[in-house]
Amino acid sequence: MHGRACLAADGRAAKFSSIRNSAEAEYRLWSLEDSENCASNERSEVLKTDVEIFGAGVLGLAIAFACLRRGASVRVIEKRSVGFGASGGYIGALAPHAPDPWNEKKRFQLDSLLGSAAFWKDVENCSGKNPGYSRAGRLAPLASERAIKRARHYSAKALENWGNRANWKLVQASDCETWAPESPTGWLVFDTLSASIHPRRSLLALASAITNLKGEIVEGRTEGIGSKSTILATGWEGLATLEEELGTSLGSGEKGQAALLNFCARKKPLIYADGLYVVPHDDGTVGIGSTSERSYALPVATDKRLDSLIRVAVQTVPCLKDAAVVGRWASIRPRANSRAPLLGRHPLRESVYIANGGFKIGYGIAPGVARAMADLVLDGIDRIPKSFSLESCISKSARQTPR
Ligand SMILES: Cc1cc2nc3c(=O)[nH]c(=O)nc-3n(C[C@H](O)[C@H](O)[C@H](O)COP(=O)(O)OP(=O)(O)OC[C@H]3O[C@@H](n4cnc5c(N)ncnc54)[C@H](O)[C@@H]3O)c2cc1C
Repeated sequence: MHGRACLAADGRAAKFSSIRNSAEAEYRLWSLEDSENCASNERSEVLKTDVEIFGAGVLGLAIAFACLRRGASVRVIEKRSVGFGASGGYIGALAPHAPDPWNEKKRFQLDSLLGSAAFWKDVENCSGKNPGYSRAGRLAPLASERAIKRARHYSAKALENWGNRANWKLVQASDCETWAPESPTGWLVFDTLSASIHPRRSLLALASAITNLKGEIVEGRTEGIGSKSTILATGWEGLATLEEELGTSLGSGEKGQAALLNFCARKKPLIYADGLYVVPHDDGTVGIGSTSERSYALPVATDKRLDSLIRVAVQTVPCLKDAAVVGRWASIRPRANSRAPLLGRHPLRESVYIANGGFKIGYGIAPGVARAMADLVLDGIDRIPKSFSLESCISKSARQTPR
């Protein structure tokens, strides 16, 4: 039997443990001591599973959930533990790109954001656990007359591209009481599409929902056990492996650091200012993120860059001044050269599919990715935007390569 821990179909012995490993600040979202649960894996070796998914980050788990909801048998295989990678952090902003220029990536993101409430409600119903979803919108300061003019333009474009499902409007900071970013012009933009999720709780809910629906999660393993189809959702490491296999550049990992503050801003909007996110969660904490680092020596260590980010957060949202920092975290985002998600068939391997490239929007697009991958893998229906394909990423990579 491989794997130090596995989750069985009934999920009886699954529990939250959050054990820290001093070497890499590793934490385990799940542990399982009940060895009899592992028997279900041995049974599955005889019966071929429909879909085996490698990687228990938000993409792998969301796809597993969607496939189970459609009646497929599913096994998730995770190298370390659920949520070990980029998904296991503090931020969870589910926020749109600006509504102009409009393209298929933004259309996909819009559909996914609009579908998020139903997706996470379903996860909650199947798991009995609250993933911490809340749609309270997003406030961003408008620093100049030029920014105000651009925001008015985006307002009109949101109406055109989002219809009446959400809007992008200008509001005065003075109307927002203390929960607002500092704004030199006194104006803010408020979009009503943005929402938030509690990343760690949402993964716990997904993992519970999967086991309740008779899916398996096997931790501490990298080899497959046997399936009709395979999906690789292995984050930045998966990008590196794929590059080696295809002999071409596809992307890389980009480090991000984030902090968790003790501050109650339940049901308040997210705040976004100049790359900084301040995200209220319903458990009385606020996530602050994130740094963007292309080169780094220590992938999961935090450092003074995070201290400066926290200082900027307090300058931007002064009511956070006395909030205690209760968590510091770093991880590596999977960034494709196209900056778009990478979804579709593996170009060399039969019945193998790829779900990667979530970069900074992995949580926001997870419901859409889950649906699109389940359509493709289970029903052979390909609704994935062309710009998310491996071919598109490879051709973008070739254009970016200096001669
Ligand atoms: C600091 C920070 C802040 C962020 N903030 C946001 C945000 O506010 N909103 C948002 O939408 N997104 C955000 N993101 C991005 C988002 O977290 C990622 O896009 C998303 O987590 C990617 O999910 P994933 O499942 O593809 O990868 P991961 O979560 O990295 O999961 C990949 C998993 O695969 C496993 N694995 C690797 N190799 C193998 C193998 N061979 N076999 C089996 N398993 C393997 C890993 O152990 C890992 O658990 C943030 C990221 C960071 C780092």
